[in-house]
Amino acid sequence: MDHLLTAINCRNTEIKIASLKELKNVCEQCMACDLGKTRTSIVFSDGFAGAPVMLIGEAPGADEDATGIPFVGRAGQLLNQFLADAGLDRKKDLYICNTIKCRPPQNRIPTNEEKLACSAYLFGQISIIKPRIILLCGSTAAQTFINQEIKISTIRGKWLNIFEDIDVMAIFHPSYLLRNHSTEPGSPRWLMKKDLETVKNRLQEIDN
Ligand code: SF4
Repeated sequence: MDHLLTAINCRNTEIKIASLKELKNVCEQCMACDLGKTRTSIVFSDGFAGAPVMLIGEAPGADEDATGIPFVGRAGQLLNQFLADAGLDRKKDLYICNTIKCRPPQNRIPTNEEKLACSAYLFGQISIIKPRIILLCGSTAAQTFINQEIKISTIRGKWLNIFEDIDVMAIFHPSYLLRNHSTEPGSPRWLMKKDLETVKNRLQEIDN
């Protein structure tokens, strides 16, 4: 039975990889908003197509635009450290992307029009990956799924009921944590650590 389940899971992952490749191919040609004119490369995703956790950030920055990989700059390195400290493996447990796939000039916040134009790729990724947990990383990602007025500090760390069969949690963006160094109890870094430990515990419950 275990062999059968492993074979089915491998097959599902192969199908997901093929579908994501097709979606990425379309995205690479996309000029649906003006950000297509100034990008160096689309920043589609990183991580594992069969991952149980999908992390959605805001938008690519300069390092991401240059490499085509999300969360590779200083903020990405800090995120990696927090994930590792919580026992989460970026390459195995997570599939990582952003609300939009091209870098906004001067790293400004994406507009609603840009997010709407890019939403087909984001929702395509969610429907292909079928994650068990979605992490909305930072205000922009949270506002995309909840509402424009929401403050990350008031909703982070709670399980949110947005999708059937997917546990959703908002967490701080690592860029914010780069500006907040304290690790004292109650500080943003301390809260991020607690939130990711909660995610790890939920993953273990799902696995059992
Ligand atoms: S941000 Fe999204 S919608 Fe706009 S050009 Fe890039 S891929 Fe297309």
